Amino acid sequence: MNKFINTFIGYFRSDSDVLLDDKNRIRHYIKDLKRMNSELQKQKAALDVFTKIELMPEFINAKTVLIYWSTASELPTQDFISKWKEDKQILLPIVVGEQMQIKRFTSIEKMKQGYLGIWEPYSEESMCNEPDIIIVPGVAFDRLKNRLGRGKGYYDRYFNQSKAQKWGIGFDFQLIDSVPINELDVPLDKIITPSHCVE
Ligand code: ADP
Ligand code: MG
Repeated sequence: MNKFINTFIGYFRSDSDVLLDDKNRIRHYIKDLKRMNSELQKQKAALDVFTKIELMPEFINAKTVLIYWSTASELPTQDFISKWKEDKQILLPIVVGEQMQIKRFTSIEKMKQGYLGIWEPYSEESMCNEPDIIIVPGVAFDRLKNRLGRGKGYYDRYFNQSKAQKWGIGFDFQLIDSVPINELDVPLDKIITPSHCVE
């Protein structure tokens, strides 16, 4: 009976509704898994991921790296940023209305909370170089290098205006069989988790 009702309702639902449902289901599933991640597991995973990145020629040669300031549930990036802030130009995203812009990271003291409470650099200086590499978080990734984000499409819109290498990083459980996508979702160039590197 349920199956019949679902099929019936299905006639009235657009493809984009179905896609959104699929994406949201994965977002909830990953949120539950992230809750079980201990602080120690998060730090260990970050060390594994960044040890791999630091050996990659594209990273070694990169002058400018756009990365994210991690929230509590994401793969931690703070230690990596502190480690590289002198040798590379580190950029972080800031959200301005519907758009994502980038700003240079200088120090922890020069950060304030922005959109969703995420820490953003603040400075009068508005110009910064184009990144050579963009390292992004995600809710989930797949082996075709598709990325699922939090649902606002900020990175998709930003990627369209950039020629940089786009790398997604996360925990092993964030690399899943298949991420539902539409034509606006921009695929990445690499996905790096502690146990996997998809190129
Ligand atoms: P996320 O990438 O954060 O997972 P989605 O891909 O689900 O989020 O996109 C969220 C919203 O942003 C959708 O309504 C989508 O149509 C819109 N969007 C994504 N990319 C673009 C784009 N390049 N131009 C305009 N709207 C976009
Ligand atoms: Mg998207």
